[in-house]
Amino acid sequence: MPIRDEILIELGLVPTWRLRTRVLADVAPDAFAASEPGGLPARRAEAPEDAEARATRIATLEWRDFAADVDACVACGLARSRKKSVPGVGDPNAEWLLVGEAPGSEEDAKGEPFVGQAGKLLDNMLAALGMKRGENVYIANVLKCRPPNNRTPEPREIVACRPYLDRQIMLLRPKLILALGKSAATTLLDNDATVASLRGRLHRYRGVPLVVTYHPAYLLRNLPDKAKAWEDLLFARRTLHGAAAADDLVAGGR
Ligand code: URA
Repeated sequence: MPIRDEILIELGLVPTWRLRTRVLADVAPDAFAASEPGGLPARRAEAPEDAEARATRIATLEWRDFAADVDACVACGLARSRKKSVPGVGDPNAEWLLVGEAPGSEEDAKGEPFVGQAGKLLDNMLAALGMKRGENVYIANVLKCRPPNNRTPEPREIVACRPYLDRQIMLLRPKLILALGKSAATTLLDNDATVASLRGRLHRYRGVPLVVTYHPAYLLRNLPDKAKAWEDLLFARRTLHGAAAADDLVAGGR
């Protein structure tokens, strides 16, 4: 991370000053004559960005700019300790959106969600449904950066990262969201319920059907609950097929 960003974080001045492409493009070339050492543009080429402006900007991001924007984000302290940001992976036209909690160490090293042990289990669960990562499936996390020592995400980190997940959902318009574990479920449903109390029922996130199941890392430690997770996946598939059939009926009736 550039030293300047580190200093801003130390001073508690983030998210405040942010290099904005649009602002840079609007400024005459000689505005950069007074560059700071290290080639950074002078501060007058930057614009303050409060949380609302930031959320509005993220809400209009396109896929092509999404990963770079996540990578440049310093809205919470996690950018300091992470190796790579982990924006998400998969088919941008996917019907299924799987949402986990946050990257772990292997995801942090690779920049891709669910590539460790829990990810292997997730891939096996998808395979059991005849599906695979990248094909009609998009995988994201509530947090795009790894919390140190895989600690539970803090509420302020979830709030800071939330606009990115919301934008992913808007861009994808999935037919079904599968919330993997408590962080994903309670973030998307805006409650503090347990996974056990949320699973087995159909929820909605901004109108999109949402099914809750156990996090694969939990299942690795609680093998008997794998059977319940399998029930959840079947429920999710039935829900998606039901929604697709309803769409077809509407389309056919037009
Ligand atoms: N756990 C998660 O919630 N997400 C990952 O990407 C990996 C492990």
